[in-house]
Formats: sequence, C-alpha cells, structure tokens
Amino acid sequence: MPLKMATRIQASLPIASFEMYTNLLAEFSFEETVGNSIVTREPVGVVGCITPWNYPLHQTAAKVAAALAAGCSVILKPSEIAPLSAFILAEVIHDAGLPKGVFNLVTGDGKGAGESIVTHPDVDMISFTGSTTAGKRISVLASDSIKRVSLELGGKSAAILLEDSDFPKAVKATVNNCFLNSGQNCNAITRMLVPEHRYEEAAEMAKEVASTFTLGDPLSDAGKLGPVASKSQQERVQAYIQTGIKEGADLLIGGVEPPRNLPHGYYVQPTIFGRVNPHSTIGQEEVFGPVLSIMIYHDENEAIKIANDTPYGLAGAVWSASEERAMSVARKLRVGQVDINGAPFNIYAPFGGFKQSGHGRELGRYGLEEFLEYKSIQCL
Ligand code: NAD
Repeated sequence: MPLKMATRIQASLPIASFEMYTNLLAEFSFEETVGNSIVTREPVGVVGCITPWNYPLHQTAAKVAAALAAGCSVILKPSEIAPLSAFILAEVIHDAGLPKGVFNLVTGDGKGAGESIVTHPDVDMISFTGSTTAGKRISVLASDSIKRVSLELGGKSAAILLEDSDFPKAVKATVNNCFLNSGQNCNAITRMLVPEHRYEEAAEMAKEVASTFTLGDPLSDAGKLGPVASKSQQERVQAYIQTGIKEGADLLIGGVEPPRNLPHGYYVQPTIFGRVNPHSTIGQEEVFGPVLSIMIYHDENEAIKIANDTPYGLAGAVWSASEERAMSVARKLRVGQVDINGAPFNIYAPFGGFKQSGHGRELGRYGLEEFLEYKSIQCL
C-alpha cells in the first residue's frame, strides 16, 4: 500500500480501535438485572487470535483491543508473511505495563503455531481472520474441545448501481474501493452491477478511473497502486485474469502481463472485465487483487439475486438517488455491511460476514461482546 495511504489506514486505524475500546469501556455494562436474576458478562478466558497479512495491525487490534477490554488474556499469532507490526505492538503493550502473561505473542505458520493454538486445551476461544479454507480447518479442529470460534473470512462483494444513481460518482468510488491495497481487501467491492442500458457508459467511466491508477514504488510518491504482497499472490491473481479471459469476459483494461517498467516487486496491472457472467470463476471466487468485474442486470430483483448469489456475504454497496430505495435494497442483501452512496467505514458498527464469509462480529461494542460469556445468578 502506498506510504501515504498506509499511514492513514494501516497505522491510524489500529490506534483508533484501541482508543474506541477505551471509550466504550467507560460506558459498557457488564451486569444487568432480569427479574430475579443478575446476569453478568464474564471474559470467555484465554483467546487465541490468528491474523492475516493484508491489514496486519488493524486486524490484530480489532481482536486484541476488544479481548483485553473484555478482560481476556490473549495469544496472538500474526501472519508469517507480515509479522513485524505485531512485535511493535508487543513492545507497546510491554511499555504500557500490562501484567505478564495477559498478552502473548507467538510467531510461526498456520500448520505449526496456528494449529497448536487452535487445539490447545487451555485456549477457550479462537478469533480468526483469514481465508475461508483455513477457517474451515480451524472450525473442524476446534470442534474437538467445543471451543468458541469466530471467523472473519473472504468475500466477493457487489455494488449495485441503480439506474437513478450518480454514475460518475458511483463508478469512481467502486473502482477506488476495488483497487484499495491493490485489491487485497476481504471486503473489497469486486463486482459492479449496472443496468443493461447503462453498461457502455459505466464501462467507459470505469476504464477512465482505472487508467489513473499508476503502478509504482509504495515508498515513493510515484504510484497510486503498489505491488501485491508476494510472488504467489501475484501468480494467483494473474491466473484468475487468465481464467477470466478464457471464460469469455471482455477485458476492458489491464491484463495478465506485469508492467515492463517495474522489474522489481510483484505488480499486477489494474484490471477490469466487462459483461462478466455472474456464475463464471471470476464472478464467484475471491481474487484478492486489483481486478473488477462489471456485470449486467435487467431489473432490481435480478440485481439483488446476482449480488446474493455467491458463497460469500461480507459486504456490499448500493447507489441510488433515493435513499429509501437504496435502504430497501440494502435490507435484502445477505451481507454483514452495506454502504449507501459511498458512506464511510464506521469502526463503531459491527464488522463480519454472513454465509461463508464467517460468523461473529468485530469492532464496536459488538466486537467486545464476542469475548464475553453470560452468567445468570438467581436471587431470592
Ligand atoms: P490465511 O488463511 O492463509 O492465513 C491467515 C492466518 O491464519 C495466518 O496467520 C496463518 O498462519 C493462519 N493459518 C493458516 N492456516 C491455519 C490453520 N490450519 N490453523 C491455524 N492457523 C492457520 O489467509 P491470508 O492469506 O493470510 O489472508 C488472506 C485471506 O484473508 C483472504 O481470503 C481474505 O479475504 C481474508 N481476510 C478476511 C478478512 C475479514 O475480516 N473477513 C480480513 C482480511 C482478510
């Protein structure tokens, strides 16, 4: 991610999450009276937090700050691909003077360190963010000890542009969203659904916006789009672009070849496909790279059906001149969060998915509640 953006997002967001939980604790109620019962909310216990590489510190903070606020102790295993920010967090927590053993950092890969945490008898809960494949494996392993598991997994999120929406604004925002962090976002809007009679117009606009995404060294001001995280990630994205071409989608801009002028770094050209079949591979699977698929719909119901018709259910967007109409569509989307007309991300609102995007919620008070157990104490 280009440095300027990384400072704003990768560094600032985790700080905001820690601040948020400090604020929320001041007003959060851990006890209430229901009839003759006192219902207390107690920490679930020892939490294993397993995180991915794309927003390494943000995903860590969303778990660790909430678990500590709930009164849990934490074992953090960051991604083996991007673990360094977790070391800085460990130093910060050490300097803050937390009692020994409350926060613990364990590094290693998924199979070794990750599975050891998941299967450990003294770990009460696993809070996992990562791929759906690893999430399924963790669910199976954790079932042996009936550990609580919360999963934040992949996505294939769609923006529905209703015919009355502000197209220049909606198309620009959708392309920007899709290409953020070189497309390595679980909640990236990777499908743009447009009415048939406005397809040509939308495709032209999308191409124009994509052409402003110059690739370049993220440590300089040269580029708007950095490389993807690794060689294997680059190859994965290139393979999806190849599949898109093979399956007959219109390649509007970009393509498989890496840019010639950047011999170092795993760059992928910002790529847009038009007239993508919703049931094709790139219409269904998470690419995790700067690749947008434009799809056509004929009426609002079909748009909703296409948006909902993947195994995922993480995020979505609706654009319309009528807030009421956009709300009615948003309510019909089987996803964990919907942005209307480009409304911004809110860390006080719950974040998480329906279907194979996982279960459980992070952020806001909902994220804190994930790490609590209810206890009912009946009194005379
Ligand atoms: P990944 O699943 O390969 O790895 C994520 C973490 O899980 C790493 O720390 C890894 O070491 C660990 N891990 C892997 N296999 C494990 C196992 N069997 N047992 C225990 N731990 C294991 O994912 P990734 O490649 O690091 O991240 C990309 C994926 O994460 C994408 O699919 C993306 O959509 C998803 N993601 C989801 C969210 C969300 O909030 N929904 C956020 C970011 C990323």
